[in-house]
Amino acid sequence: MSQQIFDAQSLLQWYDYSQRILPWRAKNDEKPNPYHVLLSEIMLQQTQVATVIPYFYRFIEHFPTFNILAKAELDSVMSLWTGLGYYRRAQNLHQCAREVINYGGGLPQTVEALKKLSGIGNYTAAAVAAIAFNVPVVPIDGNVERLTARIFAIEKKLPKAKKYLDERASKLNHHPLAQKRAGDFAQALFDVGATICKPKNPNCLICPLSSQCLGFQKCIAETLPRKIEKTEKPIRYGIALFIQDRENKILFRKRPMKGLLAGTLELPSTSWELIPVSFDLAKKEIAYQGNFVKKGTITHIFTHFILHIDLYNMQEKLELSFQSRDELWYSFEELTFYPFSSLMKKLVQLALN
Ligand code: SF4
Repeated sequence: MSQQIFDAQSLLQWYDYSQRILPWRAKNDEKPNPYHVLLSEIMLQQTQVATVIPYFYRFIEHFPTFNILAKAELDSVMSLWTGLGYYRRAQNLHQCAREVINYGGGLPQTVEALKKLSGIGNYTAAAVAAIAFNVPVVPIDGNVERLTARIFAIEKKLPKAKKYLDERASKLNHHPLAQKRAGDFAQALFDVGATICKPKNPNCLICPLSSQCLGFQKCIAETLPRKIEKTEKPIRYGIALFIQDRENKILFRKRPMKGLLAGTLELPSTSWELIPVSFDLAKKEIAYQGNFVKKGTITHIFTHFILHIDLYNMQEKLELSFQSRDELWYSFEELTFYPFSSLMKKLVQLALN
C-alpha cells in the first residue's frame, strides 16, 4: 500500500451517499459559494461543527457578502463572533473581506494567492482552493493527519513526525478521480475523519477505507497517530474586579487589538502571572477606592495554559459623575452587542450571582 496510489474511488462513492449535510456546502450540482466556504473554514478553526452552525447562519444573515462584510464596523463583526472564541479570527476575516474587495470582489483561486490574505494560512488556503475552486490539493488538518497515520500505519511520533505525515497526506489525492473531484475528495476526508475515523474508537467496520488501511489491518489504528507525552499546561493567576454604578452598569475596558482575546471587553484585571498576584496589584488597575469582597475563583482553560482568576466585587455602587469619559460602562443586557469572551461571561455571571 505504501508504494501504491491511494484508491479514492471507495471514499468518493461513500461520500456521494453519506456526506454530512452542512449549511455551507453546495447541494447536488450547485456551485460552492466561496464566501461561505471561507467563512466556515475560519469559524471551524479550533471549533466544533455543531457550535459553528448557528454562528454561521447568523453571520451570513447580517453579512451575506464580502462587500457587506467589508463595509461593516469591526465592532458589529466582533459582536456576532461573541462566544465563538479566538477573536483574532473575526478581525482577520473583516480585514480579509476588505482585501478581497480591493482584489476585485472575488476570492483568488490559487493556494498561493489565498495565503496572502489576512488570516489565511496553509490549511485554510488549501481547503478553500479545493472546496470552492476544485483545485487538486489536500488540506491537511488534524483529522487528515490522523487518517494518514492510520492508513499507512505510521508509527513515528508527533510532533516530530508532522512533516513526514504531511508529506504523505499531500499525496493522498494522486488517483485521477481525486484530482477530478478535488473538493469532494477533501470534504470526504474531513467527513470520514470526523464521523468514522475518530481519535477514540475508530469505526473501522463501516469505514470505506478499511480495505486499504494498514492501521486497521495491523490492529493498531486506535493507537495512531503516536504522540510524545505532553508536558502539563502551565498555570497562570490573575485578579478581576467587578464594579457597578448606581444604574447597575458595569465597568469594562477593551483588551489590546493584538494577542489573546484581542479587542474584547474585559473587567479591569491584573495581567495573568505564573505566581498568584496580590490584591494591591489589582487595585492599581482602577482609579476608584472602595471595599472589595472576594466572590470566588474561575478556572478557564486556554490552549497553552490554565488560568485561575479570582473575582472581587466592589461593595459600593459608584455615582455616574465620577466616571471619566473614556471608561466603558455597560449593563449586563447590553453585553450581547459587544465582543465578549466566555471567560468574561463566566466572571460577570459569578459577580451577579
Ligand atoms: S479503517 Fe479504521 S483506522 Fe483505517 S481509516 Fe477507517 S476508521 Fe480509520
